Amino acid sequence: MERIYNFSAGPAVLPQEVLEQARDEMLNWQGCGMSVMEMSHRGKEFMGIAAQAEADLRELMAIPANYKVLFLQGGASTQFAMVPMNLLRGKKSADYVNTGEWSKKAIKEAKKFGAVNVVASSEDANFSYAPTQDKWKLDSDAAYVHYTPNETIGGVEFNWIPETSGVPLVADMSSNILSRVIDVSKFGLIYAGAQKNIGPAGLTIVIVRDDLIGETIAGTPSMMDYKIHAENESMYNTPPTYGIYMAGLVFRWLKHNGGLVKMEANNVAKAKLLYDCLDASNFYHCPTAKENRSRMNVPFTLKDAALDEAFLKEAKARGLVQLKGHRSVGGMRASIYNAMPIDGVKALVALMNDFEKSHG
Ligand SMILES: *Cc1c(COP(=O)(O)O)cnc(C)c1O
Repeated sequence: MERIYNFSAGPAVLPQEVLEQARDEMLNWQGCGMSVMEMSHRGKEFMGIAAQAEADLRELMAIPANYKVLFLQGGASTQFAMVPMNLLRGKKSADYVNTGEWSKKAIKEAKKFGAVNVVASSEDANFSYAPTQDKWKLDSDAAYVHYTPNETIGGVEFNWIPETSGVPLVADMSSNILSRVIDVSKFGLIYAGAQKNIGPAGLTIVIVRDDLIGETIAGTPSMMDYKIHAENESMYNTPPTYGIYMAGLVFRWLKHNGGLVKMEANNVAKAKLLYDCLDASNFYHCPTAKENRSRMNVPFTLKDAALDEAFLKEAKARGLVQLKGHRSVGGMRASIYNAMPIDGVKALVALMNDFEKSHG
């Protein structure tokens, strides 16, 4: 069967080798006679799978020992509430940076639990850039500082880590986790839905410094309490077992393919191909500021929006799908996560060049 190139923002492309291994192990995982989906989450087989997945993630990201790794459910959207519920810790307010649609949602949810100070925003320029640190009006008394290192919809990525002078830094890394090398010790908490750069939807990863948990706001449900999940090693209730297994296969794939150093180099090369094509053309336009262009999500418009349908049709005919831009932005968006092979990006660039020749 032919595989297509899937540029979806999420759920997104997974490495073919990982899907093949999952297929091979589907009915009978490593000789145990059952599928991972059928295993008790408290049995030794699954406990081993989960422990290995966590160990591999720790190794890949060099996560320090004083950080907990949690495998949760509810998506990044649930973290928009869990973060304030757990990290306000008696403080009055939290600082948020507003760089787009996902920041806005995080801010809206946090306001249900405390005061939110929007300390920097790029709304003035339609969220096309990331405000530099000198523009941030941080409050040294804030419970934490929240930002979105990669805005999946606007295609705006921070290429630097904010300095918050001891106030815990919280990052929604849903769409760029594992795409580059980062220093985890600079963060208080990192969260990510799995369905963009890790595995299937249904799994959410939280990496949290252990001194920040255990002081939830009154009335916090057990399922929303990081401490309870940490004490129970993410098995307080039934975790998303198959998602954890798939994430574990992806982590191993990353390790076998050079880890995050190699991934980052690949991602730089893939993004360069696409942005170079956009820059060389007057037919296509990329709305994001050059210094904040995302390596993961590349939005662009055609000179004439009336050509969008024809472009998408031609793309589909060549086996390139899910290129339609988010409804709030229009145009196109190519998501080129870790698992998108460079040949997929080359095929997209070839399409863009041919389409410009025939319609430009
Ligand atoms: C997709 C996405 C979300 C929402 O994730 P869900 O898992 O659907 O809740 C939040 N933040 C960012 C940056 C995203 O890309």
